[in-house]
Amino acid sequence: MKVLVLNSGSSSVKYQLFDMQQETVLAKGLVERIGLEGAVLNHQPGGGEKLSFQRDIPDHSVAIKMVLDALVNSEHGVLESIEEINAVGHRLVHGGNEFSNSVLIDEKVIETVKKLYDLAPLHNPPGIKGIEACQAALPEVPQVAVFDTAFHQTMPPYAYLYGLPYELYEKYAIRRYGFHGTSHKYVAQRGAELMGRSLSSLKIVTCHLGNGASITAVDGGRSVDTSMGFTPLEGLTMGTRCGIIDPAIVTFLMEKEGLDSDGLNELMNKKSGVLGISGVSSDFRDLEQKAREGHERSQLALDVFAYEVKKYIGAYAAALGGLDLVVFTAGLGENSPEMREAVCNGLEFLGITIDKDKNQVRGKETEISAEGSRVKVFVIPTNEELMIAKDTREIAADII
Ligand code: AMP
Repeated sequence: MKVLVLNSGSSSVKYQLFDMQQETVLAKGLVERIGLEGAVLNHQPGGGEKLSFQRDIPDHSVAIKMVLDALVNSEHGVLESIEEINAVGHRLVHGGNEFSNSVLIDEKVIETVKKLYDLAPLHNPPGIKGIEACQAALPEVPQVAVFDTAFHQTMPPYAYLYGLPYELYEKYAIRRYGFHGTSHKYVAQRGAELMGRSLSSLKIVTCHLGNGASITAVDGGRSVDTSMGFTPLEGLTMGTRCGIIDPAIVTFLMEKEGLDSDGLNELMNKKSGVLGISGVSSDFRDLEQKAREGHERSQLALDVFAYEVKKYIGAYAAALGGLDLVVFTAGLGENSPEMREAVCNGLEFLGITIDKDKNQVRGKETEISAEGSRVKVFVIPTNEELMIAKDTREIAADII
């Protein structure tokens, strides 16, 4: 079975075409600057050279048409015809309370996701654009929606409710949803495989540390708590997002700085986090470099981040009532031995001891815990696309 995985953003479409027999990537690429000047499709056939196609790409329909053309192109295509695509999997950010699993897309699913636009105004509308464009281009092909929030729908109410009037939860569905669910689920499953244990027997803390960052407590394969909340702003201090702050700061700043809700949203989402603290960069590579050169606020930003990750691991070990495995994933988690060491340093009392030599690894699936460490610690590169392709295969297999 061949599955096309699409991740549609407001001005971009990321894609990967999988052959699900061997779970290999046949081609992948990215359409950027949709609707803007300088639009481009960067396409890479599996194992081949990267190719770049520039032309006007006014909307998602044209973008998806271009992707399909690239896949069947006589020179560098990987398919004889688009009929070989058996199913399409779409990443959607927010499934609200409505979706706790991936689903086959029909009109009702689209209507339901549209009703959730309020909860993810930046992310769900382009997702739907991608789906509608694909339905038009491939009307006979089953399409599946895979939600970032779905994995966290197993959280118990005491973990997802905020201390606000209950009526606001009923009226606006204000609660913790959590994000990066596909990534947390993938690395938890993979971690269990690497340990040679069944997922149902394990207590795992998964640390997705990238530009956006979140931590999840996984008990027996189910998410029981996670650091992101109603939106992806809650939790850790991130690249540019402030994470948890005293909510009273919001009204204080509105008053003192004369900010309206847009201004404050911009400040908390785009100008805060490690960028705000360091005053230098949101990119952890830059911060590590600057800190090595003696820039104190870059070091402070890294210290804040490591301290928060450490606190979440401790809190989630308590929430889980034990701990068997910690997994580091995403850009920073996969690639920064320094950050992993800073996080794990001092957690020996929980049974976490890393091996400093094994920890000198970047972007490779490896155990980094020391021999005898009661809790295993792994680096596992995330693979959300493969996870989406697997769900799509499972759901589409029933109808094709
Ligand atoms: P992601 O959002 O998962 O793509 O992760 C992006 C973040 O990972 C950026 O802040 C990068 O600086 C960071 N990152 C990627 N590679 C490295 C590296 N070799 N060392 C430190 N941070 C890295």
